[in-house]
Amino acid sequence: MDVVERIDAVRFAVAAARQRGLSVGFVPTMGALHVGHGRLIEVARKDCGYVVVSIFVNPTQFAPHEDLQQYPRPREHDLELCERLGADLVFYPPVDEMYPPGALTTVQVAELSTLLEGAIRPTHFRGVTTVVAKLFSIVTPDRAYFGQKDYQQQLILRTMVRDLNLPVTMQTVETVRDADGLALSSRNAYLSPEQRLAGLCLSQALQRGEQCYRDGHPPDEIARIMARDIEQTAGVNLDYATVVDPWTLIPLTTPQATMVGLVAARVGTTRLIDNAIWGPSPF
Ligand code: AMP
Repeated sequence: MDVVERIDAVRFAVAAARQRGLSVGFVPTMGALHVGHGRLIEVARKDCGYVVVSIFVNPTQFAPHEDLQQYPRPREHDLELCERLGADLVFYPPVDEMYPPGALTTVQVAELSTLLEGAIRPTHFRGVTTVVAKLFSIVTPDRAYFGQKDYQQQLILRTMVRDLNLPVTMQTVETVRDADGLALSSRNAYLSPEQRLAGLCLSQALQRGEQCYRDGHPPDEIARIMARDIEQTAGVNLDYATVVDPWTLIPLTTPQATMVGLVAARVGTTRLIDNAIWGPSPF
């Protein structure tokens, strides 16, 4: 496995892989890798001849009051995991390699970036789409792998790829959870044992939502039930609980073939998000 910090080195390695006739799979991450990230790498490994992982804590997707400085950066652990799962190349750029002084260009997906997570974190998705557009331009992958865990993020990135005609196939990989149902997240490391227990209310609300969906309850009622369950959990502050259309993220009042339940809450100062797809997969 090669570990490189420079854009030129990525281009060189990917060109060599292509010359060998290999397809290129790409897993962008912010590091602090866990089994959820690992699953993306495993799926990419199965699909593609050459697997690139990027590890970059992208400053432009953090607001000034958010946890950019505090975000965990366990370099050796992350590189070991990539190696063990068979990544071929890790791109580990310093900030000034990705954002040299004077950059003026951003990429923004309108509307979808203003809803839900975007309503709470207004500049977040512009940072995500800009850095992923840059990473796609550097790595030029055939396929790129994202987690369903960040449902809105993968939808916005799919929309960017469609709208900008980027030559990459987007793959969304199911959320990996701990045995008790908590969705794996790098930010779970911030939780005390009590907070972690409280945070379980998100996946539990989604499970209750799924049962209501099976029982034929209308989506707006399911959203209210999930919201109430989360609000009633001590130590948890609800940001939203909603049931939406998988492509527009518009809240639903009447049932349709595929619906997505999305929940977000704060446990102490840590924000947790989770979701579930009900009905046939939208991808
Ligand atoms: P991050 O490092 O948080 O930017 O995440 C990098 C990628 O891993 C994103 O596509 C996430 O959606 C994905 N991811 C994060 N947590 C999980 C999880 N529990 N299961 C599957 N994918 C995940």
